[in-house]
Amino acid sequence: MAQRGIGMRFLGDFMTQQIEYDLLVIGAGSGGVRAARKSAEFGARVAVIEKAAFGGTCVNVGCIPKKLYVYASQYGAAWRDSSGFGWQCEEISFDWNTLRDNKTKEIARLNAIYERLLAATGVDIIQGHGKLTGPKKVSVGDTSYRAEKILLATGTWPAVPEIPGIELALTSNEIFDLPRLPKRLLIVGGGYIATEFASIFSGLGSRVTQSYRGELFLRGFDRDVRRFLAEEMQKAGVDLRFNHHVTALQRDPSNASIVALLSDGEAAFDAVLFATGRRPNIAKLGLESTGVTLTEQGYLSVNADFQTSEPSIYALGDLTGGWELTPVAIGEAMAFAKTQFGRQPSRMDYHCIPTAVFSQPPIGTVGMTEEEATATGHKVVVFESNFRPLKHTVSGSEERTYMKLVVDQTSDRVLGAHMVGSDAGEICQGLGIALKLGATKADFDCMVGVHPTAAEEFVTMRTPRA
Ligand code: FAD
Ligand code: NDP
Repeated sequence: MAQRGIGMRFLGDFMTQQIEYDLLVIGAGSGGVRAARKSAEFGARVAVIEKAAFGGTCVNVGCIPKKLYVYASQYGAAWRDSSGFGWQCEEISFDWNTLRDNKTKEIARLNAIYERLLAATGVDIIQGHGKLTGPKKVSVGDTSYRAEKILLATGTWPAVPEIPGIELALTSNEIFDLPRLPKRLLIVGGGYIATEFASIFSGLGSRVTQSYRGELFLRGFDRDVRRFLAEEMQKAGVDLRFNHHVTALQRDPSNASIVALLSDGEAAFDAVLFATGRRPNIAKLGLESTGVTLTEQGYLSVNADFQTSEPSIYALGDLTGGWELTPVAIGEAMAFAKTQFGRQPSRMDYHCIPTAVFSQPPIGTVGMTEEEATATGHKVVVFESNFRPLKHTVSGSEERTYMKLVVDQTSDRVLGAHMVGSDAGEICQGLGIALKLGATKADFDCMVGVHPTAAEEFVTMRTPRA
């Protein structure tokens, strides 16, 4: 490994210059930025190549703008709820342009912070499209770079089905920057993105139809949680349609709306969002010049140390499939940097990863679903609670909260904790620690609650479901 400051060499003449590093990272998103910074802190000479904005999907068109829009979408309901507590005011109104422009300012601030953090650790920043030209070589435009190790962290990109008129649809990349709030929005998909945006736009005042091809959305989450959220979202005004298909889109002759051909008829919308999954960002990445192989699903195939089938090339984050979450990409990047440059061999621990769907109400979950626990041979006991939160006894809102613990009958170990309700993501972060430490139901039972909270319900559920 080269020492900082002396590891970079210029080879050849000006036109064919080749700059040499210990590590070249392609992609300055959640995983790439952390891997670059941490490796540089360990003394490696590092460069990161980014073709768009610093911070990647999460900062620019993912977690951060999404969460800002989630906050925005909650004020209308909070205002309605406040009247039961005595607050009175005239009609309120929402201005989309203010939200969009304030979001854009905040993202620009974060982009600059990410760039500064990289520069502060001595990472060279190269702007442009990185293309592999061999196992240890990358080109950006006319410049060639050589590195002992190359890390691919190029993330994923929205995927849409090839139906007639699909070019009229938006993806999550464009939805944040619409010129105006759509009055009628069709959202296709039943995953995290479709469900979160259904709640966001419904909360902001759009009439939202969410179309999902299967019998119940959020495949992979606990079935009771999925059912409960579907009821709550319907109560909140989202038109949820399951076993439902969108077969074509066309412009209305007056050009005022988009007409969607649906499995149950047709309807006009102001905008249509397809949130039908994402595919690895490998276009024009030059993989063909290397021995890197893909999984059956088209993700980069890596071993537990993120090494691809080309020994000098590594890959992590969304590009490798699995848990497509920012903290996972960051955790993988930490393990990579420690192992490769920090002399601290480490591996990412994928056990008990908590996650939230920022729907309204949100889902928080950690550990096994009841279905997973049963399928993996556990005899399970289920504890659950379905209640009207204290706040809504006065606000008049019909929103309810659901909590569920999946417990292994033999060992008493809590295998999974699931919640749909206010602050579910915040609550499940703490529960995740308990589950990771192997807490039993008896441990939950002897925990003193924080009163009055919704979270205390997790330590007071005593009667198993029949
Ligand atoms: P990315 O962050 O996607 O970064 C990849 C980078 O590589 C990009 O900047 C891209 O421009 C660059 N790049 C690609 N190809 C090249 C090339 N050839 N040359 C140079 N640069 C290149 N996760 C959560 O944990 N919580 C959330 O609430 C959450 N919300 C989300 C909401 C949405 C709408 C979306 C789309 C995602 C959300 N995610 C969330 C997922 C999260 O954003 C990703 O898991 C995370 O960004 C993955 O990081 P990454 O480093 O693998 O890739
Ligand atoms: P998901 O894979 O979660 O969901 C895709 C959805 O689209 C599924 O419901 C799928 O149906 C459906 N679908 C796929 N293909 C088609 C098709 N051809 N026609 C109709 N429907 C289709 O992807 P997302 O895009 O929602 O999110 C990508 C990832 O980003 C997530 O998995 C998550 O890891 C991450 N993310 C995390 C967030 C968070 O942490 N809060 C928020 C947003 C994203 P089916 O189930 O039948 O396959």
